[in-house]
Amino acid sequence: MEVVPGLHWVDQIWDTKVYLWIEDDRVVVIDAAMPGRALAVWRYLEALGYPPGAVQAIWLTHGDIDHMGSVAALKTGSGAEVVVHHGDVPLVDGRATRAVRAGRMTGSLEKTFNWAIRCLLAYQPVPVDHPVEDGDLLGEWQVVHTPGHTPGSACYYHPRRGILIVGDALNHRRGRLGAPPPLFSYDRDQALASILKIAALDFEVCCFGHGPPLVEKAGQRVRAFAHALQ
Ligand SMILES: [Zn+2]
Repeated sequence: MEVVPGLHWVDQIWDTKVYLWIEDDRVVVIDAAMPGRALAVWRYLEALGYPPGAVQAIWLTHGDIDHMGSVAALKTGSGAEVVVHHGDVPLVDGRATRAVRAGRMTGSLEKTFNWAIRCLLAYQPVPVDHPVEDGDLLGEWQVVHTPGHTPGSACYYHPRRGILIVGDALNHRRGRLGAPPPLFSYDRDQALASILKIAALDFEVCCFGHGPPLVEKAGQRVRAFAHALQ
């Protein structure tokens, strides 16, 4: 479905949101969901009249399995470049394992979690073509580094259109905004500081990795949520 003109959500993918930004003949896929979801993206694009080759870039909000799972298939099918903040490059290209919050029992949780990514879900790592930094521009989109959930979590922000794509830096479940889950945020304080950073931006539309997009007054909702955290 079209969220706002030019920005689509691939609604056949129910687990983690995959967004498409379509401008002229250029398609950008934002996030890659779990493994096995590339076909749903191709079908959605086909219905709009675009072949896989129209995809020029795949922007990842971060290197979690449910956001990068199908990146290899999407890249192979389209030849698109893979973009992610440099802090999460080692997760995407397979050099690092996912760190969870330090504490009692988390050592074994971390091992099990990374075993599941590698063996059970068979994540296929890909080289990152274009590592980005805070403030980098991708056309009119701006990269906003929002670490805490992972080291390289980043939002994609379109100031002129007032659109913000936040990945897991914030979620929107059952009508409520939420911070990233503490157990799967390697640095909780940083994750909360990132929410304040997001709240300082000027936007109307907010798209989450989990939960429906807010298409009106999203900035106000996020500011109220961030204020309550302080
Ligand atoms: Zn995540």
